[in-house]
Amino acid sequence: MAVNQGNNPVRVKKQNEVLIKEIIYKYGPISRSQIAEMLSLTPPTITTNVNALLRQGLVYETEEEEDDSEKTKAGHKTLGRRPVKIDFVENACYVIGAEINKYQIAVCLMNLRGKVAGRKSRTYMRESDDYQTVMETLACQIDQVVQESGISRELILGVGVGITGFVDPVRGVLKKSAYQNWEDNQNTAQDLERLLSLPVIIENNARMRAVGEEMFGNHLHADTFAYLLISYGIACPMFIKDSVHTGETSGAGEIGHVVVDIHGPKCEVCGDSGCLEEMASERAIVKQAREAMRSGVPTLLNDLAASPEDLTMKEILAAEEQGDAAAFEIVGKAIVYLGVELANIINFISPPLVIIDGYLMKAEQNRELILKETKKHLFGVGEGEIEFQFVDFDPYTGARGAGALAIRKYFIEQ
Ligand SMILES: [Zn+2]
Repeated sequence: MAVNQGNNPVRVKKQNEVLIKEIIYKYGPISRSQIAEMLSLTPPTITTNVNALLRQGLVYETEEEEDDSEKTKAGHKTLGRRPVKIDFVENACYVIGAEINKYQIAVCLMNLRGKVAGRKSRTYMRESDDYQTVMETLACQIDQVVQESGISRELILGVGVGITGFVDPVRGVLKKSAYQNWEDNQNTAQDLERLLSLPVIIENNARMRAVGEEMFGNHLHADTFAYLLISYGIACPMFIKDSVHTGETSGAGEIGHVVVDIHGPKCEVCGDSGCLEEMASERAIVKQAREAMRSGVPTLLNDLAASPEDLTMKEILAAEEQGDAAAFEIVGKAIVYLGVELANIINFISPPLVIIDGYLMKAEQNRELILKETKKHLFGVGEGEIEFQFVDFDPYTGARGAGALAIRKYFIEQ
């Protein structure tokens, strides 16, 4: 893991610093000897680096109780002084995470462990809102969250922002917005840095959620996984070992516009026919449910929403849960397509784990249905060879993912 031979010494020193921080972040509290062992680095290298972190007030020493598994391994309880362990001071610094999706702008101020110190979300503005207005609104919302939290701006290391569309995180460029009619190739990271006077990293919102899952999710799960996000659009980025796959065109994970039915309706977004998003996204589900309301079929949707224009996913899920046949048929059909595509991804990539995120999956019956439909199409995947997990729906999942990206970029890799 550690590269310490035949390399530029300055670069090696930096690499070691990052690796040590990464290990403490992931496994802290952890002893110096455990870090040395995991990274195959010498004890003096660990000591030098840990001492520097202690001086900066970023880590602290703790004499943690050993857990039961350690006791069992040792065969007896260790006598005398317990080994000193190192962990991060979680409130030493903060980051901001934000997500701009089709529905809302969500902002979270969080500490180094992702604990939220302040947050705010607002419903999205009009579709006609121009790029500049949306960026200024986001900056303003971030300023409000920071102000209300009472946390000094000097403690904030940087900002992560997730946006729907083609995002090049290295150049900080929004190459193409997914749903806004903005000019291509916006220098979004730079524009926000100017508005906020803080460093900013941008990323595609679904890929960013995968980063958040890796950082704040269950650390015992596989370090490689597919992350299926079913929202207004649909995406399925891959997290592979230490990073999320971006791809040559920044489009990795954009499965929303793969064609699942060549005879299907024309896609409103890309113009092709029978795209996954046109068949199974929240946009498609709401559209079909509104058509059902207008068509006069008996449905609870007419009681739950004042008019077809007022209908949202919330009423559709409520109707489905109350056994409404029209709602169930529309959602069920969408999930059939989602299952087909998810099985395609699994058959092609063979990830050990699939994480599924989306409002639709709040309903237990929809979770069961997507697993059933997916498993129908798997090829050569034995029972127990792939794990499925669902993310509990939270409007701030995306913003927290953006914060995770900021922690990685402005704290661990700094
Ligand atoms: Zn499309």
